[in-house]
Amino acid sequence: MSAGRFAPSPTGRLHLGNLRTGLLAWLAARSTDRQFLLRFEDLDKVSVRDEHYETQLADLSALGIDWDGEPVRQTERLDRYEDALDQLLTDDRLYPCYCSRREIREAVQAPNGPQTGGLYPGTCRSLTASERAAREAERPAALRLRAEGAEQSYVDRVLGPISRVIDDIVVRRNDGTPAYNLVVVLDDDAQGIDQVVRADDLVDATPSQVYIAGLLGIASPEYLHVPLVLGHTGIRLAKRDGAVTLGDRQELGESNEDVLSILAASCGLAEPGERVTASDLIPRFAARPTPSFADIPTTLPEITRP
Ligand code: GLU
Ligand code: ZN
Repeated sequence: MSAGRFAPSPTGRLHLGNLRTGLLAWLAARSTDRQFLLRFEDLDKVSVRDEHYETQLADLSALGIDWDGEPVRQTERLDRYEDALDQLLTDDRLYPCYCSRREIREAVQAPNGPQTGGLYPGTCRSLTASERAAREAERPAALRLRAEGAEQSYVDRVLGPISRVIDDIVVRRNDGTPAYNLVVVLDDDAQGIDQVVRADDLVDATPSQVYIAGLLGIASPEYLHVPLVLGHTGIRLAKRDGAVTLGDRQELGESNEDVLSILAASCGLAEPGERVTASDLIPRFAARPTPSFADIPTTLPEITRP
């Protein structure tokens, strides 16, 4: 099986930026005869709101985006995450880290501190057993990847070759929660995902995900990173930017078709104001060279009714 996916966090209504990325993920899958699967990234229980599993599905449907099978929830899969952590621990790819954020900041800023270029300073990388025991008494440990300064590259289908030095990232937080960069690899593998389309704020994290996949013997999917939609302030679109959800747009008198037309036009897949269905866009997407999506705008035009 080959499949693409969309993996929202059910923390609110999807906004136009999420919807544009979701539409592109759907088009990439459907234009290559892949299944399209959904996964709710719901490990962060503090911000998840129960009603948004349903509202997010309804919003995708409203635009004509369909999916195969039942959407998966990360919270149903915690065992598998622990198994992978055990394997990495057995292979000596992880080490416990007791640092607080503040300790890390102070270590990096100290006058003679390590020049890490923003990477973890390595404080806990080679503690002795007795040093560990002493710190264990202070606070529970997170688990970090022993990356040893490895460099990892991959070829992005939109952005071309990408290469990063891998940081000793946290793969399990000290409250026991497995971290996104680990679970995304396991979830994509478990769902048979071989195509990931998502916003380009995740480009920097992708080499770490490819690296972790390699350690676990998992084949990485192909990646297409598309421009993240930004709000007025130049940071990711959010509620503060005004009428950003389908519900908000309806209150302004716009139909779902109006919104789909705006999203499609912003990707260069429709003329401004053109009536289209999501399915109309599949051949248009297929006809476009994938790297051309690197140039779609990061802002949506001021959305007012003509
Ligand atoms: N859950 C992430 C988000 O909503 C997406 C992560 C991913 O696609 O890998 O931004
Ligand atoms: Zn540490």
